[in-house]
Amino acid sequence: MTDTAGLDGADSLDDAESLDDDGPREGGDPACWLARVCPECGLFAEQEPPTACVRCGAVLAGP
Ligand SMILES: [Zn+2]
Repeated sequence: MTDTAGLDGADSLDDAESLDDDGPREGGDPACWLARVCPECGLFAEQEPPTACVRCGAVLAGP
């Protein structure tokens, strides 16, 4: 038999990688969740800012 099937598999992997490169943009704007990270302890706020950190009490002013 031949090795053509193996070569085909490598080609498919290459395609999957290029698709992966396009992935991150669906994560949205990082600023959205950055505003919810506590500046004092780094805890992720459970509520939308403005709010206060449930762990250290620091104020998250929001965007
Ligand atoms: Zn905190």
